[in-house]
Amino acid sequence: MPLPIVAIVGRPNVGKSTLVNRLTGEREAIVHDQPGVTRDRTYRPAFWGDREFMVVDTGGLVFDDDTEFLPYIREQAAMAMSEASAAIMVVDGQHGPTDADTEIADWLRQQNVPVLLAVNKCESPEQGLMQAAQFWELGIGEPYPISGIHGNGTGELLEQLVEYLPTVAAEADDAEIRVAIIGRPNVGKSSLLNAFVGNMRSIVSPISGTTRDAIDTVVTRGEQTYRLVDTAGIRKKKQVEYGTEFFSVNRAFKAIRRADVVLLVIDAIDGVTEQDQKLAGRIEEEGKACIIVVNKWDAIEKDSHTIYDHKRDISAKLYFIDWAEVIFTSALTGQRVTKILDLVDLAVDQHRRRVTTAVVNEVLEEAVRWHTPPTTRQGRQGRIYYGTQVTAQPPSFTLFVNDPKLITENYRRYIERQFRENLGFEGTPIRLFWRGKK
Ligand code: GDP
Ligand code: GDP
Repeated sequence: MPLPIVAIVGRPNVGKSTLVNRLTGEREAIVHDQPGVTRDRTYRPAFWGDREFMVVDTGGLVFDDDTEFLPYIREQAAMAMSEASAAIMVVDGQHGPTDADTEIADWLRQQNVPVLLAVNKCESPEQGLMQAAQFWELGIGEPYPISGIHGNGTGELLEQLVEYLPTVAAEADDAEIRVAIIGRPNVGKSSLLNAFVGNMRSIVSPISGTTRDAIDTVVTRGEQTYRLVDTAGIRKKKQVEYGTEFFSVNRAFKAIRRADVVLLVIDAIDGVTEQDQKLAGRIEEEGKACIIVVNKWDAIEKDSHTIYDHKRDISAKLYFIDWAEVIFTSALTGQRVTKILDLVDLAVDQHRRRVTTAVVNEVLEEAVRWHTPPTTRQGRQGRIYYGTQVTAQPPSFTLFVNDPKLITENYRRYIERQFRENLGFEGTPIRLFWRGKK
């Protein structure tokens, strides 16, 4: 399974090697002080949090015509870009933008790879912002002041960088379903986990995941394998003294990131809390499939309204994941526990689903026929040319329009509803990207 690649580009002497060393933690690697030195591409592993990637230094990009290495450099750089998921363009903050920077930025814009702009040699935080601001003119987005030598600002840079990288889960073997069980303390996560393990064949457990401290539990049901990610805190709770405060939002966020589908466990007695809303928000942002598990269903008094009241509470407070199925369970009695995995299978199918461009456009045409995009007061009307599904996990669509500014928020929501109504996608978020003609 190849790791995503991040290309480091920039003219010579801006501090690319220094940054690469910082990202990869290999201080002793070679630093060239001589401009125009070309090197073969070397890949070095790096990580941020639980995200791993490879860094490739493209060597000093020199586009001057008098360089004898020019064709070679260009070829190397283009090759590096063709396989990169993202690029970091490094510039010298103490120097200000140069013609070479402009040329590289122009070249990068043609590469179809997301670019982050690192303004290096910004040791002082106050000055750094001013130094960085000069580089807006390159037209490749927000300049991040950093110091490759001291490390200032590299955290923010990496935080943004990993947003551009495909998640490990997205690359995971499709044969396996990665499930995260998350929720506040005492909602019944470990009881649910034990119910799964008790009901099914637990093949290998524990298995260490990509993160050093993440322990996964793997179970099978029929032909299907489920990897219950980061169950260390859940399984060992009774033996290891974590204390009652062992609820790390950060840890939950990491588990969400590694999963295909998240079981958001809610306590039927307490209902939806603010913490649950925060977790649900993250699930949506990360584009994961989700099932809302309302546990301890045995512990509450029920009448004919109870389910309805709970559903109403959930749809009011968790409206941003209104596509998620809700199931009412009891880990204590086992009620509907195995049914959870049926819902997991369905949600994952939808999460991985792809629809043809023909079908997407049928839905679009029909939607536009009912309700055309709005016209501005100046008489300009939004037009949708066509749409296509660009990725799955979650299903994401690009809609090509005359001008995205003409497509109002309301209209976007209307189209999204039409997609839901006609294409389904129960259990998974979907994404619509609106692209204008250049
Ligand atoms: P490259 O040619 O782009 O790979 O640049 P290098 O990493 O070799 O660095 C070029 C020069 O800039 C070296 O003398 C570095 O010591 C210096 N340098 C690199 N990063 C920083 C930084 O963050 N701050 C300062 N002040 N100097 C830096
Ligand atoms: P976790 O902190 O989310 O892992 O929650 P636990 O699985 O440790 O459960 C916390 C407490 O709730 C324990 O005392 C469990 O016995 C109890 N509990 C868990 N699931 C249920 C359930 O479905 N019904 C009832 N009545 N109690 C439950």
